[in-house]
This record gives sequence, structure tokens and C-alpha cells, in this order.
Amino acid sequence: RQSWASDSSDSVTSSGSDSDGSLYKVILLGEHGVGKTSLARIFGGVEDCADAEEAGNTYDRSIIVDGEEASLVVFDIWEQDDSQWLQNHCMKMGDAYIIVYSVTDKVSFEKASELRIQLRRARQTEDIPIILVGNKSDLVRSREVSVDEGRACAVVFDCKFIETSAALHHNVKDLFEGIVRQIRLRKDSKED
Ligand code: GDP
Repeated sequence: RQSWASDSSDSVTSSGSDSDGSLYKVILLGEHGVGKTSLARIFGGVEDCADAEEAGNTYDRSIIVDGEEASLVVFDIWEQDDSQWLQNHCMKMGDAYIIVYSVTDKVSFEKASELRIQLRRARQTEDIPIILVGNKSDLVRSREVSVDEGRACAVVFDCKFIETSAALHHNVKDLFEGIVRQIRLRKDSKED
């Protein structure tokens, strides 16, 4: 498929806007070690760069989804420091959220539920797009959370669900395309 913009970092900063002029802020949430940075770097197309550490932890890029361009800024700042202020700010600033857990870590799965509740509290009246992500699906033998458990959790929390493997780049593209579709769905229904 051609929908994933082939050219990464430079396409972004220069354009910086959707076809309707918007730039969507997507925030990654989740426990330490679940794969947030790995997913964000794949999105940003910088996962192999030696200086990725210094590249900062926001990644902006335009991608083509269903024939239309969308500009996303992905924020991997949830764990940047322990400040309550930053975490509160994260809960307020996003246009969409990706809540990540590791399928090899039950505790991270439970934490994902807590984050969903926290987010609901922070954004009570808003219907914000959220995707629950079970990452590390390649680690079959150390799996602690089944696909069914993940899916059931997403039903309870009224959000979308996908399993990914950042290691194998499996479903990562679908994840970010999915976020764009979720944002558009809500925007379209508001405009109607
Ligand atoms: P973060 O703390 O949530 O940002 O997690 P990182 O992206 O830093 O990943 C933590 C560790 O898990 C690193 O050693 C990654 O290489 C590894 N990791 C991340 N995603 C995957 C995955 O899909 N599969 C496997 N096997 N390892 C992964």
C-alpha cells in the first residue's frame, strides 16, 4: 500500500497542516518499557538513527490516509519527568490518545485501564479518540495478556483496540492510520 508517506521527517515540519488546515496532537500514554518510544520512532521514521535520543520526543509527520493527507504530531513525553503538571497537561492537550501496554506485562495492562479512567475524568464531556494498544505481540512465549482480554477491555472502555509489534513493525502503520480515521469520524459527525 502507498498510503504511508514514504518520506519522513522533512515532509512534516514544512507542511505542518492537514488539508483542512489542522495539525492533530496525538499523545502516547503507558507504563515504562511498554514500547511507546519504539512506536513513536517508527512513526517518525527515525528508529534507526544514532542520534534518535537527541531528536527529542515529539515526532511530526504527514501521512496519507484514505487518499487524504493528515498531519500528526506524536508526543512521547508522558515519562519525561515525574511532574504532575506535565501529566495533567498531557491529559488536556491531546486531540487523540494511544494508550499502550505490553502483552507480556499484566501490570502494564492494569495501568492502561487506570490511564483510561484518568483520561475520562480529565476530559469528561469530550468524545476523544483513544486506541488501546497491546504491544510486543511478537513475544509469544512470554504473553500474559490475551487478545481477548485486550479486546474486552477496549469494549468496556469504549475505545478501539489493536495489537502491535514495534520489533516486527507489525500493525504500527495501521495504528497511526486508525488514529487519523478516528479523529476524522468525530470531526465529520460534528460538522453534520
Ligand atoms: P517506553 O518506555 O514505553 O518508551 O518503551 P521503549 O520503546 O523504550 O521500549 C522498551 C523496551 O522494549 C526496549 O528494549 C524495546 O526495544 C523493547 N520493545 C519495544 N517494543 C517491542 C516489541 O514490539 N517487541 C519486542 N520484542 N520488544 C519491544
